Amino acid sequence: MEYQQILEEIHEEVKPFIERGKVADYIPKLAAVPKNKFGMAVQTLDGKLFTIGDAHEHFSIQSISKAYTLTLALQFAGEEALWKRVGREPSGNPFNSLVQLEYENGIPRNPFINAGALVLVDVILSHSKDAGQTILNFVRERSDNPDINFDMEVAASEKSTGFRNAALANFLKSYGNLHNNVEDVLDTYFLQCSLHMNCIDLARSFLVLANHGLSPWSGKQIVTKSQAKRINSLMLTCGTYDAVGDFAYRVGLPGKSGIGGGIAAFIPGRLCVTVWSPGLNSNGNSLAGTLALELFTTKTGMSIF
Ligand code: GLN
Repeated sequence: MEYQQILEEIHEEVKPFIERGKVADYIPKLAAVPKNKFGMAVQTLDGKLFTIGDAHEHFSIQSISKAYTLTLALQFAGEEALWKRVGREPSGNPFNSLVQLEYENGIPRNPFINAGALVLVDVILSHSKDAGQTILNFVRERSDNPDINFDMEVAASEKSTGFRNAALANFLKSYGNLHNNVEDVLDTYFLQCSLHMNCIDLARSFLVLANHGLSPWSGKQIVTKSQAKRINSLMLTCGTYDAVGDFAYRVGLPGKSGIGGGIAAFIPGRLCVTVWSPGLNSNGNSLAGTLALELFTTKTGMSIF
């Protein structure tokens, strides 16, 4: 497959759309990211890397990090205990919505909306002395890149305006679905969202999920084959919020998005494809990024279906 040529074609075709979305502005530091960025990376399981545009530039991965913390929380708590505290259905609501949490008695619909991700952080805090470092080590191992870091300025910026997440965390606490201090859960959550990575790091880190849980870098089984199946299914059904049906229809791959404009998606047994373009659609997913992934599966004729 001529991946490089396909990436070049995609880059040309998405150009008119790159400036169309809206950059997330409720986190002041992210509001300042230029909208004209576009990068893409394809990392194949047989070891080939293809990139285009700003694939080497670092950005805030935001909610893509929830796929990492889900893996850690599953490992720490075990499936049975975790699924008592979080659901596994698409929410049909914005990622930061409060309403559903009340009528569902403090059990978030899924681990990828903010309320669910706060519960994941709580699990990690209960099982590790330094939750931030645990998350960082895990991401570094998965990408095979020890230089990955948090962006403390982005974390502080989100904290300064993180009123909705504070509301969600307090709400969860009132239902007994947070066991740790609200403040500690929020601080760790903002930290994980601030992970500063590029399209290549992301593609390398998600390749493990395209490889039945086995790291192509270390040869280590990061998650079991069965857990990889489950995480991938959740990415397909809940990874792009209330646009998940549209994303599955157009792209046909499990994917996880973040309001930094990144999306990571993969084709099990073959490759991982990542994209970054900060302009978002009204659901908080990268507008040109979603289009780029749709073009990728259309042009290559490859999807999970
Ligand atoms: N840190 C962001 C928030 O909590 C993450 C949201 C996202 O990327 N969808 O609002």
